[in-house]
Amino acid sequence: MPTHQIHYTRCPICFSEQIALQDNIPDHAISKKYFEVWKCNQCNGFFTQDIPDESAIDAYYQSDQYVSHSDTRKGLLFTAYHLARKISMQLKYRWINRAMRRYASFSLPRPTRLLDIGCGTGTFLHFMQQKGWHVNGVEPSATARNIARNKYQLQLDTPDQLPYFPAQSFALITLWHVLEHIHELHDTLSQVRHLLHPGGLLMIAVPNANARDRQLYGSYWAAYDVPRHLYHFTPASMEYLLNMHQLHLLEVKPMRMDVFYIAWLSARYQHKRWAALQGLRVATRCWLYSWWHPLKASSLLYIIQC
Ligand SMILES: [Zn+2]
Repeated sequence: MPTHQIHYTRCPICFSEQIALQDNIPDHAISKKYFEVWKCNQCNGFFTQDIPDESAIDAYYQSDQYVSHSDTRKGLLFTAYHLARKISMQLKYRWINRAMRRYASFSLPRPTRLLDIGCGTGTFLHFMQQKGWHVNGVEPSATARNIARNKYQLQLDTPDQLPYFPAQSFALITLWHVLEHIHELHDTLSQVRHLLHPGGLLMIAVPNANARDRQLYGSYWAAYDVPRHLYHFTPASMEYLLNMHQLHLLEVKPMRMDVFYIAWLSARYQHKRWAALQGLRVATRCWLYSWWHPLKASSLLYIIQC
């Protein structure tokens, strides 16, 4: 274990002391070390215990692990990931259009500005720019920022620049599978609230700790992704967190497609022969289930207004 470690005596989401050990989960993807996952009885959320602090977490992000080698299984995963990313881009755009039409204030300044927090290599920002949005993005990884600059001519900022953007300057702020990685959870939400134009929207996508696929895969559930995922949000804990920051939850949407990637990875972690087929079978089951139980989808998108 790294020496730089954070031990929580209170829930990092709601600060309650009513917390208890729930499970021991291995880091299947990179370090193979075990991490405790604790449950909070106040907000009903989960969190990873004894996490590496910000100076030590980098050792757990060797992200080229998934794509560097090209044996058949990894090649398949790579292709599936990129196909899923294409589909998810179109879905995100549809969700944004629908939500902006339905909820966003008509008094938003034009042109509409978007801030994507944890924007990676800027694929989504580039897509939105082509749709006419003015875009900004923050991303901690220097490698990702360089790719965004070379590939899309996007000038991204580091997350510590967030407080320097003009207040209330964004019509839309997005965090796509990012909030669960951020050590400074509450500071980030305060900054988001400060940057969002009144009547603008905040969209947060996170894995769903109440997901059907988590129940089926248990400690193999790929979306635990400890210790990189610091929090494992349930709808109740997300609502609790948003209320603490005077952010109003408008809608929760199931992100049904995410289960195909998560189930595939989970089946690989189980070392199943034919992991791809096994994952596809479970994913299809969970996908169908989520049409009747949307809050059991693998990931959820929270649509929020301040
Ligand atoms: Zn809590």
